[in-house]
Amino acid sequence: MALIVQKFGGTSVGSVERIQAVAQRVYKTVKTGNSLVVVVSAMGKTTDGLVKLATEISKNPCRREMDMLLSTGEQVSIALVSMALQELGQPAISLTGAQVGIVTEAEYTRARILHIETERIFKHLKEGKVVIVAGFQGISRTEDLEITTLGRGGSDTSAVAIAAALRADFCEIYTDVPGILTTDPRLVPEAQLMSEITCDEMLELASLGAKVLHPRAVEIARNYGVPLVVRSSWTDDPGTWVTSPQAKGRSLVNLEIARSVDDIAFDTEQAKVALLRVPDKPGVAARLFGEIARQDVDVDLIIQSIHEGNTNDIAFTVMTPILNKAEAVAAAIAPVLRSQKNPEAGEAEVMVQHNIAKVSIAGAGMIGRPGVAAKMFATLAEAGVNIQMISTSEIKVSCVIDDEECDRAVAALRQAFEIDTPQTRHGASLHPHPLVRGVALDMNQARLAIRQVQDRPGTAAKLFGLLADKNISVDMIIQSQRCHVVGGVPKRDIAFTVARMDAEAAQEMLQQAAVEYGWGEVVLDKAIAKVSIVGAGMIGQPGVAAKMFEALAQHHINIQMITTSEIKISCVVSQEEGVKALQAIHTAFGLAGSETFVIPA
Ligand code: ASP
Ligand code: MG
Repeated sequence: MALIVQKFGGTSVGSVERIQAVAQRVYKTVKTGNSLVVVVSAMGKTTDGLVKLATEISKNPCRREMDMLLSTGEQVSIALVSMALQELGQPAISLTGAQVGIVTEAEYTRARILHIETERIFKHLKEGKVVIVAGFQGISRTEDLEITTLGRGGSDTSAVAIAAALRADFCEIYTDVPGILTTDPRLVPEAQLMSEITCDEMLELASLGAKVLHPRAVEIARNYGVPLVVRSSWTDDPGTWVTSPQAKGRSLVNLEIARSVDDIAFDTEQAKVALLRVPDKPGVAARLFGEIARQDVDVDLIIQSIHEGNTNDIAFTVMTPILNKAEAVAAAIAPVLRSQKNPEAGEAEVMVQHNIAKVSIAGAGMIGRPGVAAKMFATLAEAGVNIQMISTSEIKVSCVIDDEECDRAVAALRQAFEIDTPQTRHGASLHPHPLVRGVALDMNQARLAIRQVQDRPGTAAKLFGLLADKNISVDMIIQSQRCHVVGGVPKRDIAFTVARMDAEAAQEMLQQAAVEYGWGEVVLDKAIAKVSIVGAGMIGQPGVAAKMFEALAQHHINIQMITTSEIKISCVVSQEEGVKALQAIHTAFGLAGSETFVIPA
């Protein structure tokens, strides 16, 4: 006999018939000897309807009253589901978030869960009832009893948090799609269903997976080791399991806010190879990394960004023992990469640096919290550590620094993020995973570049601290490898992407900062697209990046920026080539199936 949490989304409870079908499914699960907690969303598009009503009364409705309003949708559906179960002869009781004791921060419309009382739920379960809990809502600290909501789509988060608090055997998320697909089926009809995916992969695919599963729900599943499955409400198909490593025995206090970073890792066995001034045209990265892959050299971080004179810098890190091989490949290819558009730029130049180290912070809690990366940069700045390369992904930020400074950097970071478990060395994962699990396209980003930023400790901290203060999340960050000495001060370009809706505000603020700090021009390009491949199996495997770049080269798609993390490689291309890029890469990794996926109505 298992304790199971089942969550049903809006479409799954969208009509009387569907509510009855949900009750049947719940009833069947109970009859096979399980205890059940059911979490539901509001019926169909109820929440959208409530938002519309509010905006008809007020352009900018008070957030407290918004939560008072929006939380009503779930109260309707829990009562109806409970009645439908009782109709089947199954004892059931519905409870609001407040009645359960889902305690959240006092932040209306986007509250995070602090803790969940389990007493009342367990009491009813013991009496043989199914407990139906309203998703998406909670209550602020018991004294003021304010109703809060978790943010749109938040009932997934309620369900997984309840499963964690009850230490349920697993949590099932029932929705209107059969599970998680290798990519967006509206753009690539050959997308296939995955049977499983790790939480980390799912988080790295946030822009793809968020439509199916609220990222905060995945965060909780990962942090507390809640087995999670996403399944269709309409069938008995097994769906997609979202797996997590063994839970680390975290406290259930401050459930969603306790630790944004839970691991600090370092690697001193790395060396950096940079190619400066390679031409900005399709096929260059494919050629370089194709040759490197043929020599069986595994590259770790890769970054590329465009700079003045329309040439690119590409830099990558490799393990020190294979540095010579990597350097030889880069040196052999450099003379071939002469820029036709800009012959004065001359030949590409190879730069090698042995004494580097990589330090990383990792954790599910950095998604949507720009302050976390900014804190890492500030911590390194305070420790006087200069950052040579930065690479960011949804759940990881890595910095390449001088290896003599590695111990100091790690110690400072451990203190800043209060990590007391022994730090890990970077390394390959133990379980076999596919090289590439899924491909995501993000068409909602813009690229900002700041020219000629001082190359000294504290610059990244200042820049990304300013953005964090404005709550602007930064995605890909790339510092140029070439360095100009201006008036005795070494200067580099820095480029990064932000959500397109934040782009103008970010540019304006940075232009002011540029005047104050003596930075150069702030350039904005909004017509970009980001394509990413994600797979836990790519760690330590040569050739994955090369294959991605090759797929783009074959379709004559120019790569503007590259960044990587252990399990993700992202490229920025022009916006109009985004969909073509996604399709080409999805096919290149053999993810396309023979059957086309039919999107349910
Ligand atoms: N009803 C809420 C919404 O539509 C929560 C949810 O469905 O997850 O956003
Ligand atoms: Mg949903």
